Amino acid sequence: MATRPPKAQYSSSSSTSSASSYSSSDSDLSAPSPFRTSMDTISRPIASVEVLRCMRCARSVEATSTDDPASTGMVRVGHNIYYCDRCAKMVGYK
Ligand SMILES: [Zn+2]
Repeated sequence: MATRPPKAQYSSSSSTSSASSYSSSDSDLSAPSPFRTSMDTISRPIASVEVLRCMRCARSVEATSTDDPASTGMVRVGHNIYYCDRCAKMVGYK
């Protein structure tokens, strides 16, 4: 049957690839902290609030971009096109 394990490619090439000219001891001290104040939530690049609006009943749900749209109850059907959970069932998307 399956005689090979799923991650058997740990061979020679990838382990010693590009670690030759990499000295990180000096540059760690002058690295700026990405979080200056804890109040500063504007310039965080990770999570942006996005309004998911159902194109059928215009119900809208706020979600951050890191959220899974499925956790908000909205079903994504296209680029910036969403159905809410009820409308997704009505049109047969679920
Ligand atoms: Zn809807």
